[in-house]
Amino acid sequence: MAATLLDGSKIRDQIKAELAEQIRDLKSVGVTPGLAAVLVGEDPASQSYVRSKVKMCESLGLYSQKIDLPRDTTEQQLLDAVDSLNLRDAIDGILIQLPLPSHINAKRVIEAVDPAKDVDGIHPLNVGRLVSATPGLIPCTPAGIIEILVRSEIPIKGARAVVIGRSDIVGKPVAMLLLHHHATVTICHSRTRNLAEVAREADILVAAIGRPAFVTAEFIKPGAVVIDVGINRLTTAEEIRRIYRDPSVPLKTLESKGSLLIGDVQPEDMAEKSSAYTPVPGGVGLLTVAMLMANTVQAARIRRGMRTATRV
Ligand code: NDP
Repeated sequence: MAATLLDGSKIRDQIKAELAEQIRDLKSVGVTPGLAAVLVGEDPASQSYVRSKVKMCESLGLYSQKIDLPRDTTEQQLLDAVDSLNLRDAIDGILIQLPLPSHINAKRVIEAVDPAKDVDGIHPLNVGRLVSATPGLIPCTPAGIIEILVRSEIPIKGARAVVIGRSDIVGKPVAMLLLHHHATVTICHSRTRNLAEVAREADILVAAIGRPAFVTAEFIKPGAVVIDVGINRLTTAEEIRRIYRDPSVPLKTLESKGSLLIGDVQPEDMAEKSSAYTPVPGGVGLLTVAMLMANTVQAARIRRGMRTATRV
């Protein structure tokens, strides 16, 4: 049977429609949730991520402010900028676009963000809340993955879940969320022995590695659900020919767009062996920005003592 494609755009649009309603209600009582996105330096990928975040804020009627700081901004100057955003009532969410230049201690900056405004869910206080299943702000990509699974009615309770990757922003929090949804979770990383064998035990396999098409057929149990978090860019025909069994369509994309996005899972293997999977592009990535908006709305409600939906 053909695998089900878990369409990120459909789920994102559902979430956007729900958020639009919540935002309308908030505006009717004089509250416009606001997001500040802080960008240090001119990294083109970061610029484009921040642009898409600001654009979605605008399309939903949220207040947004983009704060561009030069690459040579000192750590103290950035901490001062964060402080002033912490104090501004119109700002409910503060997003520090990572990575920061190497002369700035990212951990120190993350810890300086008011936890009530930490819409990326990476302040140690929110990490602690996530671990102890206390409602709080959850990292956006992991929250989006759970939305995909739940809204697609994929059973998580009792499932064997394997997460490849243990980053603070994706691997660890998604593993924790799967655990809270009663999956039996294994977290793998670069030192895991017999990785393909461990991955093959998964009913739900999450790949968050950052290596193009690293996960191949031998990692996937027939009928598993595969969530491909990776976003990698291929820029040469040679790479495409090495990765794809049928490279004709990807080669055309390379020709027309100059590059090709690919996840951490070999797309043909994923479509053939899984029962359902998220495509790249068009899967998890689309949910990440939507969940940032959801977190901003949630932060606005929490800060004003309003009731919120529990998402842990
Ligand atoms: P990190 O680089 O922070 O973490 C990668 C993880 O993969 C590490 O835990 C690392 O293990 C593990 N890993 C690397 N190589 C191997 C290997 N050979 N075998 C097993 N494990 C390995 O990446 P992120 O978590 O930030 O991102 C992962 C991917 O997801 C990237 O492609 C990124 O672009 C994408 N991403 C997508 C988002 C979206 O919205 N769709 C959002 C965020 C990220 P170790 O800890 O041992 O080094």
